[in-house]
This record gives sequence, C-alpha cells and structure tokens, in this order.
Amino acid sequence: NKKGFLKNHVILKTEIIAAKNLTFIGISPCLMAYFSSFLLRSVTDPRDGKRVALKKMPNVFQNLVSCKRVFRELKMLCFFKHDNVLSALDILQPPHIDYFEEIYVVTELMQSDLHKIIVSPQPLSSDHVKVFLYQILRGLKYLHSAGILHRDIKPGNLLVNSNCVLKICDFGLARVEELDESRHMTQEVVTQYYRAPEILMGSRHYSNAIDIWSVGCIFAELLGRRILFQAQSPIQQLDLITDLLGTPSLEAMRTACEGARAHILRGPHKQPSLPVLYTLSSQATHEAVHLLCRMLVFDPSKRISAKDALAHPYLDEGRLRYHTCMCKCCYTTSSGRVYTSDFEPVTNPKFDDGFEKNLTSVRQVKEIIHQFILEQQKGNRVPLCINPQSAAFKSFISSTVAQPSEMPPSPLVWE
Ligand SMILES: [Zn+2]
Repeated sequence: NKKGFLKNHVILKTEIIAAKNLTFIGISPCLMAYFSSFLLRSVTDPRDGKRVALKKMPNVFQNLVSCKRVFRELKMLCFFKHDNVLSALDILQPPHIDYFEEIYVVTELMQSDLHKIIVSPQPLSSDHVKVFLYQILRGLKYLHSAGILHRDIKPGNLLVNSNCVLKICDFGLARVEELDESRHMTQEVVTQYYRAPEILMGSRHYSNAIDIWSVGCIFAELLGRRILFQAQSPIQQLDLITDLLGTPSLEAMRTACEGARAHILRGPHKQPSLPVLYTLSSQATHEAVHLLCRMLVFDPSKRISAKDALAHPYLDEGRLRYHTCMCKCCYTTSSGRVYTSDFEPVTNPKFDDGFEKNLTSVRQVKEIIHQFILEQQKGNRVPLCINPQSAAFKSFISSTVAQPSEMPPSPLVWE
C-alpha cells in the first residue's frame, strides 16, 4: 500500500536508513565521480560502518532498450565474484513499484582510477605497471571465461584503491559473446582510442579479442604516460594503427567491410615500426615490448588471449607481488605465506543471458527487476533503503549523468 510505504519511509531525517532499525548514514560531498552509466557517491553502510560507493542507475525505465541494458548490467553485477571485477555488494530496497524509477547499487569504494593515475604527476614504477597489468588481465580472464565481452575497457573504467588493488567496472556496454559469426553485433562500442582495428574496419562480428586490444593500448599508455593512438577520427585512428603495425595482410582484413579494405589498399604500403615501442619509456624492456606486441596484433584471431598473456614471463613479478601482499585468496600463517592453488580463477558456469529473450514491455521488465532486487535481499542483513526527503539525497538525484558526448562515439560508416 502506497500511503503506508510513504508514511514509514519518507519522514525520516537521515540520508539512507536501514529499513528496520533506522540507523542512519551521511552522504559525503567530497567524493563524487561519474561513469558512463553511473553517478557515484561515497556513503557509509550503517550496518557495519564501512565506507562503500552508492551508484545510481538512472533513466532505467525510459524504454525497453534501456530497461534491458540496465537489467543485464544489474544481473552481471550480482553474478560477478572476483577481486578484480567490481560487483554489487547490495541493492537498495526499491520503493513500491508505482514509485520505482531508479536503481541504487552499493559497491566497494575505490579511491581512484587508472586514467586519473596516468595523468597525475605521481611516478609509476615498473612494479606498478606490472601489478596493474596483472590485475587487468586477471579480471579479464575471469570475464571472458564467463562468456562476457566488456566492450569498453579504458583507463577510466579500471578503478584503483589506495593499496593498488584494481577492479574492472562499468558493464553498461558488456554483453555475452556471440558464437554465431553470421549474427551482426553493434559497432557502437569501445571509446575510440581503445577501439580494436576490426571494429574500426566495420567487422559485423567480433570476439573478446577486442578487449585485449584495449588492454594493449592501456599497457602502452602506462609505460609512456600518454595515449598510444590518439586520433581525431575513426579513419585517423585506423591510420595511426597501421603506421605502427604496417599495412595489414588481406587475411588480417578478411572480416572488414569493403569500404574499409579499399581505404587501406588505396593508401601507401606501410612497413611496421614496432621498435618505436622501446622509446615509450625506460621501462619498455624486451619482455614488456614482447608482450605488448602480442596484444597489439591486427588480426584478432592471432591476438593473445587473457589466459595466455598471464602466462607471459613479464607478469611473473606482478603475480608474485599481488599474491604476496594484496590478494584475498592467499593468507599468511606463522610459518609463512599459504598460496592459493589457482592464481587466476575462472568461472563456471558462464553468465546466462537467456532471461533477455522474454522481455517484451517496459512494465513487464520493471516488475521483473523489482522482483529480482527483492530476491537479492533475502539474507540475514537488514535491507538498506534511501530517504528521498533528505537534502543531500535531493542534490544527488538531481545530478546529471552520462552526457551523450561521454558515450563512445558512433563508428564510421564505410559503406
Ligand atoms: Zn592470492
């Protein structure tokens, strides 16, 4: 009953309440950040006093496409169980369905992200680069084992806390891999600088290798402290890539659209200039450049996988450091460190997106999401909900999120 709900929940003076015992928390004004699909706020969980991040998923029920996208993201956030992948710790208790417009997700609080770190004056040692790259690939191996393509790997989507623990976030563009090569996939993915050549060339079908390309670009950016391929347009993006890798073979362009292939063949024949990668920084050792060149491979079928990249000797020190003092999977006893039997775990079973097939109307999806959130809360903890009358909350919900210019630019139309 609507009136009853309002009476019980609105007249509280706190920002967020635990629904039954009325413990309260404040929203800190100091930490606000924007992701492409989220507005983020730092809050304190009243049940245990821990600092966490509160994220608003806005404009959920505008149309069926946005409903489905948000439901997929929500399902993924609840599915993930990996230290290098951001997951939902909790979802706030939704109001009565008639008032249900926004979804609030509680996640771990991360102080920074790789973009902020790269552009900061803070020195990055080769140990930093190794432990960051190790964690990106460790998280990606897990995501790919779940059958998920992230499709927007970029430094701003790699959260980092003060202990250098890294988590992949923002699954607004993520989807389950498409194994049927005759099925078309959207090309409106991946921020341009990190976009794989097969997407730039209009391939109708692509694999999780697009994420590895992005990681290669980020690896080079960590070494050189500047964006590797910083072009003004998708065509120039492709040209910068071929400047480094040389003109691709016809075989490497087999999935490209006709217009993109014609553009490459019309241009001058370029020789690869990979040795220039040694000039990125003094940390660009033989091992580093060797691994980088295995990621920045034009042909996606020849690009290294996350699993194989993790077996590269360049990452041995990163693995050791991570599992010696940063991970949660190993522990220390009086007689020494006890290491986990599986340093880079995968998931089984895969993430199942079969639920998306039967979603047909906004109202129906709204009811399913409402029910899904209530089911997630069946546990021992008191459910959290929000006080919509508080001043801090009002400023929080009126903040804007995800301007169109922040979204990945639309791809070039070749034909
Ligand atoms: Zn460990």
